[in-house]
Amino acid sequence: MKDGIDQLQADVVVAGSGIGGLTTARTALERGASVLVIEKAPEVGGSAALSGGSAWTAANVDAWLSVQPGGNPAMGQALVANYLDGVNWFAELGLQVEERPDPTPYKFARYVHDFLPDARTFMNDLARSVESAGGTILTNTGLRSIRLGMDGSVCGIEARGRGRTVEIGARAAVLATGGFQASPDLRARYFGRWAHHVIVRGNAYSTGDGFLAALEAGAGTAGPFGRFYGHMIPAPPAKTGVHNFASIKPDFSPYSVFVNLHGQRFDDEFLGDEVTVHAVVHQPEALCFIIFDERVRKLRATGMGEGPGAVDRRMENIRNAGGEILEAPDLESLAAEMARRWGVTPGPLMATLNEHNAAAADDDLTMLSVPRSGGLQPLDSPPFRAIRCLPGATFTYGGAHTNERAQVLDLAGEPIQGLFAAGADVGGLYTRGYTGGLGVGVAYGRIAGREAAALAAA
Ligand SMILES: Cc1cc2nc3c(=O)[nH]c(=O)nc-3n(C[C@H](O)[C@H](O)[C@H](O)COP(=O)(O)OP(=O)(O)OC[C@H]3O[C@@H](n4cnc5c(N)ncnc54)[C@H](O)[C@@H]3O)c2cc1C
Repeated sequence: MKDGIDQLQADVVVAGSGIGGLTTARTALERGASVLVIEKAPEVGGSAALSGGSAWTAANVDAWLSVQPGGNPAMGQALVANYLDGVNWFAELGLQVEERPDPTPYKFARYVHDFLPDARTFMNDLARSVESAGGTILTNTGLRSIRLGMDGSVCGIEARGRGRTVEIGARAAVLATGGFQASPDLRARYFGRWAHHVIVRGNAYSTGDGFLAALEAGAGTAGPFGRFYGHMIPAPPAKTGVHNFASIKPDFSPYSVFVNLHGQRFDDEFLGDEVTVHAVVHQPEALCFIIFDERVRKLRATGMGEGPGAVDRRMENIRNAGGEILEAPDLESLAAEMARRWGVTPGPLMATLNEHNAAAADDDLTMLSVPRSGGLQPLDSPPFRAIRCLPGATFTYGGAHTNERAQVLDLAGEPIQGLFAAGADVGGLYTRGYTGGLGVGVAYGRIAGREAAALAAA
């Protein structure tokens, strides 16, 4: 120990104890590596422990590419193959994981597995499994920088925790810090003018430390930096947080009409609010108004497989959170109320709704001035409703350039020897659509754990 500095040693050091970090750690341990996990927060689990606990991903690479235009097929293939390997391996470890068939067809073929009995318990069990296999987990200890040797390969990291600097010598370092959505600075850099209105829909510690440390170590970047996995969140006065983020998701939004403060449509609602949320960030004050009618309320399924009453349950949850849902007997009255209460410009709003209804009457999507790919239904069943929403970001898609072996690449596209990424810190995987968050931690955690252990043993 140097004065004020703790010095530790491991074959593999992992930054972050969410699903990506703990999967990496447990995998590297079974491959014979000594492993030290550092966690910035006081407890393990990250967003994974706050999540709905439904791990999932596309069932094959074509399904994955159908929502990742321009995606890297090798990265997608690695995701799909290692996801299944990962969930089966969890079961072998004695962790509770159960396959769940989709009750209603999703946009593409996929696998879904529930972490049981709930996400928090599952993550605690995974952490215990790391420790019982000989791994060490240091909480309250955050990655600061990566140390490179003269040959440019990783020789350790520096962290800060409990008022002390911690130097950890290691041949491999794995970044699993969960993305940069909780950093106001990085959000401002990448999300534009209204970034400060974006609600952080995940754990508060993921401020891009892994990404920034990788950049300092010479990593290249891979976008898209303006995109993220998120959902629309009812705006204040609604009180929202990790306790209700999952239950207030407006799953019915693909069948609704989205307008901005100017009363104009701005994106394709049918992509799902997990995608249109990217465009909301760039609307005035980052506000989006979801408009729907009784026909939508009666939908049996919202595309997320909830069955009858799904929309009612969402609306009730939004109201319970204190969210405002305006209701009116006709569209003119709704527009007037939205103008009075929220400042939405009524003239353009009525023009937008009339254009929508004309297109729906002719069942002709090409009549819409802002393209829409489906979900076109007339707004003709009173009462008509509107919810005022802000974008919520769960994890960011851009990050340090990473390949299908979970290796972090330098500016020339060559691996930085000994540096890996897992989970949301993997930059260059998602391009637009969302195909699961936990699954990226499972799959790339498996890959990073194997690769890091092999490198340490070499
Ligand atoms: C409300 C909610 C519901 C969700 N539901 C689902 C769902 O049902 N299915 C699904 O697939 N996904 C879901 N997700 C998304 C999923 O939780 C994430 O995609 C996933 O947890 C990301 O894994 P990760 O390992 O990259 O990050 P995390 O699990 O967030 O772990 C990252 C960890 O790194 C730590 N950290 C940050 N900085 C440092 C540092 N400098 N040094 C050390 N540690 C650091 C963080 O504190 C955190 O513990 C949900 C998320 C939320 C918030």
